[in-house]
Order: sequence, then structure tokens, then C-alpha cells
Amino acid sequence: MAEVGFFPEGSRVAVLTAEPIGRPLDYLAPEGGCFPGAFVEVPLGPRKVMGVVWGPGDGRFDAARLRAVARVLDVPPMRAELQAFLIRMGAYTMTSLPAVLRLATRTPGLFDAPGARKVYRRGAGAPGRLTEARERVLEVLDAHDGGGFYLTELAQLAGVTPQVVKGLVATGAVAELEQPRDQPFPRLDPALPGKVLSEDQAKAAAALRAGMGGFGVTLLKGVTGSGKTEVYLEAVAACLAAGRQALVLLPEIALTTEFIARVEARFGARPGEWHSGATQGERRRLWRMCAEGGVQIVVGARSALFLPFRDLGLIVVDEEHDGSYKQEEGVLYNARDMAVLRASFASAQVVLASATPSLESWVNAESGKYARIDLAARFGVSELPEMRAIDLRAERIESAHWISPTLVGEVVKRLGSGEQSMLFLNRRGYAPVTICRACGHQIGCDHCDARMVEHRFLKRLVCHQCGETKPIPTACPNCGVEGKLAPVGPGVERLAEEVAERFPTARLSVLSSDLFGSARALKEAIADIAAGGADIIIGTQIVAKGHNFPRLTLVGVIDADLGLQGSDLRAAEHTFQLMRQVAGRAGRAEKPGLALLQTCQPEHPVIRAILGGDEEAFWRAEAAARRAQGVPPFGRMAGIILSGPEVAPLFEIGNALARAPAPLARIGAQVFGPAPAPIARVRGRHRVRMLVKAEKGAPLQDALRVWLRQVKLPAQVRLAIDIDPQSF
Ligand code: ADP
Ligand code: ZN
Repeated sequence: MAEVGFFPEGSRVAVLTAEPIGRPLDYLAPEGGCFPGAFVEVPLGPRKVMGVVWGPGDGRFDAARLRAVARVLDVPPMRAELQAFLIRMGAYTMTSLPAVLRLATRTPGLFDAPGARKVYRRGAGAPGRLTEARERVLEVLDAHDGGGFYLTELAQLAGVTPQVVKGLVATGAVAELEQPRDQPFPRLDPALPGKVLSEDQAKAAAALRAGMGGFGVTLLKGVTGSGKTEVYLEAVAACLAAGRQALVLLPEIALTTEFIARVEARFGARPGEWHSGATQGERRRLWRMCAEGGVQIVVGARSALFLPFRDLGLIVVDEEHDGSYKQEEGVLYNARDMAVLRASFASAQVVLASATPSLESWVNAESGKYARIDLAARFGVSELPEMRAIDLRAERIESAHWISPTLVGEVVKRLGSGEQSMLFLNRRGYAPVTICRACGHQIGCDHCDARMVEHRFLKRLVCHQCGETKPIPTACPNCGVEGKLAPVGPGVERLAEEVAERFPTARLSVLSSDLFGSARALKEAIADIAAGGADIIIGTQIVAKGHNFPRLTLVGVIDADLGLQGSDLRAAEHTFQLMRQVAGRAGRAEKPGLALLQTCQPEHPVIRAILGGDEEAFWRAEAAARRAQGVPPFGRMAGIILSGPEVAPLFEIGNALARAPAPLARIGAQVFGPAPAPIARVRGRHRVRMLVKAEKGAPLQDALRVWLRQVKLPAQVRLAIDIDPQSF
């Protein structure tokens, strides 16, 4: 049998192991041969490891001395499209192939034969003696439609030992079952009628539909509420009608519930859902169904980009400007950019949707690289909110209070008419700083270069870098004086205190990620607000993104100047995006909205751009400024982060590199630093950063490789390369 791409028995195959080995290793094909992309188990030293057949071996080794592939696993082979994408992604992000391969194969239980493991579900029996531990197990199962967990996973989620679960199996309250064959997802029907589109929306949908079938990128720009989702669902319909699969990336798990309900309403069944909150069994099933074509739409977080779609026809990146698309740990990548890369290999369309696009995408649309579709007006009668500044210099606010009289007045009006108000403050916790009034000492984290933030709700001080917590001391750790420690500045918890004091009868809801134990609890709180269960909503970042609160008519930004401090060149862009996004929450239904920005600098150009309508002028000015500095998207950048337990060796290595810039100079690139990284110490490790800046078309990765080879890293020091860093 001489099928294309079939490696017959006895020939050599290169296998990429999931080990820190940067290149494929040669093995003999197993008995019966195997296909490229096949998942296999191979011997490596004394162990057996998982690998993917990467291609024919290069023949450098004597076949008689090679070891053979142990077994071919019962999983659909990795398609050439995904292989090619991973290779390019590895080269772009300067990550080893095994590390990018791991992104695509991390799903637990994937490589078990069906029946090899047991799964645990809620059984019909009574639990016998109901201990606290047993109760927790049953709670976890009930919270997941009865469950279907592996033993270790269930035990871990419930915080019990596996014996507790086994005990419940003995009583019949938990059933132990064979792992079932994964079932396809219910079919979605793209022929079901969607909403009747407005003229603008219909034009936009037609343009997206016309682009289906090949690779292309469209920036779909429209104010919040203009119907971007409605429009891109039409592109999804066209994709499904063509028999291909669609992937919709959302920046925040909390947004998925609402979106899934919309998909269900539109296509008659629920899509597949991919996120960290899913159980291992759910993830395994979705992974397999992607590969087998048993799922048509996947909604997920950035890691869904690495699913083994059988025929991916469309990727939607919703809220494409969102910072959470940047993966900042492990393999450093931007999911928006990688979506475009993957689509180019899959001959798929990309829709980047946003009310406030990233400057990168705006520029790409401007230069014609991306198509651009604008939805100018909100759908139906709802109008964009009116936006005004409140000049804090002219307001009288008591000390340790942050809501200006003007803002208080607007909230009061809405309490009278049954409308909702939202107060936005992008700071978790009670107070950002705890200071000693005796000696001036500020309490910092022992492991990071960060102040500890007081969280009254948790009754602890928390480091927002590493998550370390400690009790709130009564005496100053520096001078020992008792009772002089005081919170300085507002966090959402403190703002909630002020709201309770000023509006004692109002129903208050505080939305801050750390106040919710689970994604589910957060989703419930959001649904409750949407149903009118709160009068005043206090929120951090998480409220800015995409939620629909029909009764909300006022948004008050407590500190519009917050993001403008610091030296980051992206500060203006980010503040602009966040403020527009937050303001967009107001007045989504019939009643007009009002957005008020409390600021000490209403004359600041960014504040004026946020208030004034001319967005295009803002983008043009931002683009001109970046072009003048030669920074992204007009130049290329890479961050080199050295980290280790001692700071001196990091600077030594950095300085050695800075003194040997020849490989970079050859491509005209410049080196800046070494300097302390924006976060100079995390979890006890110091961080030193260098920035490399090159011209747009320069072969930056090749030059970096040669440049970095010049130094040898001591065992304790790690080096991470961040291509296209978020802050510069
Ligand atoms: P965006 O994604 O731009 O924020 P959405 O698609 O969420 O906008 O639309 C905002 C609201 O308007 C949603 O409740 C949506 O159902 C509604 N809507 C948008 N377009 C239509 C339409 N053509 N017919 C009926 N309702 C629509
Ligand atoms: Zn810390």
C-alpha cells in the first residue's frame, strides 16, 4: 500500500517527544506502519513518552541501532495544517517545538484507551454517614450536572482524599463507570433564521460572507451595542453551512454564558465550550470532537487556538484589543496574532471584533492588509451615552471619600427612577497602600517588588503579583508602633463602603474577580444584575467587557487618570480603550446613558479624545507618535527577561550582552537596558529586562538567536524572550 504520507513498517520516522528536546528524534515505524501526525508512544531512555510523528527520518542513523515506536495511540493524527502552524509559531515566538506541541496536546486523559480509566458520577444511593468531606464531593458533582470526573480530579476539586470518593462509591452515592466513548455535540442548524438585520448590519454580514472560503482578516469595528455579535454570527452561519468549523475566542470566561445562550437561540443547540473551568472529561471530549468533526462551533479562551480542528473555516476574536489575549507565562504569545497565523494555514477567515481596536489592527486595516467594516450606530433606538468630565479640582470631596457631589447627584436621580448606576474603579481590594503614620513605612510583599493590598473581605493583605497573603498587622513591621497603620487610597471594597454610607437603602453589587470563588458564582452575579437585582454596581475591569445590563443608564469612572500614570507607551491606547469600553455599558436599551469621568486633568489629550467623538483622530495621532518612535506596529520589538534569585548576575549577563551587540547591529537593531523589568521581582525572583528594537522587515528572531548564544546562563538564571511585548 503506497498511500501518500504513509510510513510503512521498517522505515524511519522522526518523532517529536514532549520532552525538552528541541528537535525530532528518529525511530523505526511500528509494525503496520504509521501516518504523519500520528500520536505515538516511544521509548526514551528508561521511560515511555508521548510523541507525534513529524515526518520521515533523515536517514543519518543506522536503522539497526534505532528503537521502534512502541504503539500508535487511538487518537486522530495531527493534521498537517496544525503541524505547520506550530512550527511557525515556535519559530516566531522562539519557543522549542516540544513546548508549542504541549499547548496542542495538554488535555488530560486524551491518550488513554476508552475504558482504561474510570469516571465518577453522582449515583442514586444515599451517602450513608454524611461527613463534611463527603458533602463536598457530592456538592462538586451536583454543581457539574452529576460529574464524570477522573478520581484524582474529583478528589482535588472537593479537597478530599481519593478514599473519600471510594467510600461514597461503596454506599452507591457515587457511581464508578467506564470512561464512555466521546459523543458528538448536538447538530447546530445554520439555516435557522437569524434576527432581521438593519441595513448597515446586512451589508456588513454580506461582506463577511463574501470573504468565506479562503484566508482573510476583517476588522469589524462598531460601538458597543451596534450588533457586531449579530453580524459575525452570520459569518459563523455561512461557515457552518459550508460544512466547516468555527472558533469564537472571548477574552473572559464570565462572558461565555451570555454568548452560548445567543448561539443556542440562533442555531438551535449549544456549541462546545473550552476554558479552564471545564472538567477534564469535557475537555477530552471537545478535543476529540474537534478532530473528528463532531463539534461545529467552539467558544473558548485563547488556548482553544490549539485545538485539532478537522476543518477550521472561521476564527472570531471578540474584543480583539483585550490585554488578556496576551499569554504572559510559559510560551509568550498574543492569541490575536496567532489566530491570524493559524487561519492562514487553515485557509480560514478571521474576524477581529472591537469597539476600540488595538492600534496594531487599526493600522493593518488602514494599510489595506486587513479589510475593515464599520458599524457606526447602535442598534435600534439606543443612543451612545453622553460623556462628560467631572473636574475633581472644582469638587468638594471629604477626605477618604471618592464620589464627587456631581456624581452622587446623578446616582440619586437613578435610584428614584429604578435605573442602575455603575461605579468603575480598576483596583481590587480595600486600599492599594497600607502606610504607617508614625514612620511612613509602606507594607510590601516579601517576595515581590510590590505593595501589599489590603483586602477587608479576606481580612488579609494580598500581593497582586504573586498572590501571597498575610494577616493585617496591628503594629508597624518597621518601627513597631501600634495602631498607626492606615489604608491609603481607594479600592473597590472601600468604594463599596462609601456607597453603603451614602446610599443606605440601595442594593449594591460588587464585581471584582477576587470576590468570587468560582466562575459560576461570577456568572450568577452578572445574571442577577442583568435581571435588575442591584441598584448600584461597583466593578473593576471585569465589568468593562461586553456585558448587557439593559437598566444601566449611568457609568461613573472614579479615577479616569489611573491608567495615564507610568511611562508605558501604550498607556494612552489602553486608557482610551478601557474608558470607551466602560462608558459603552451605559444606556444599552431605550433610555439614554450618561458616562461621567472623574479626573484631575480634563485638559489631557487622551481624556479629551475619550470625551470628544473623533476616534479616528485619536488613532491617527497615536499612530503618528508610534511611527515617530519606530515602535510597534511600525517597528519590531522583543523583550529579553532574565530572572534569578540574585540580581547581580542578571545585570552581569545583561551587560555582557549589551557589550556584544554585533549580531543585532548587523540588522540595524538597537539594544536598551539591562534595567529592572516593569515588575522587578516576583515570587522571590529578580527580573531584569532588555528591549531590542528593530525595523519592520528585519529578521529579528535570527539575529536574537545568534546574539543570545554569546552568553552562557548559570543554572539559576532563566531567560525568556517576549516577541511583541505588551509594555515598552
Ligand atoms: P455588540 O456585539 O456590537 O456589542 P450586539 O450584537 O450584542 O452588539 O447587539 C446589541 C444588542 O442589540 C443585543 O441585545 C442584540 O440582540 C440586539 N440587536 C442587535 N442587532 C439586532 C437586530 N438586527 N435585531 C434585533 N436585535 C438586535
Ligand atoms: Zn508577592
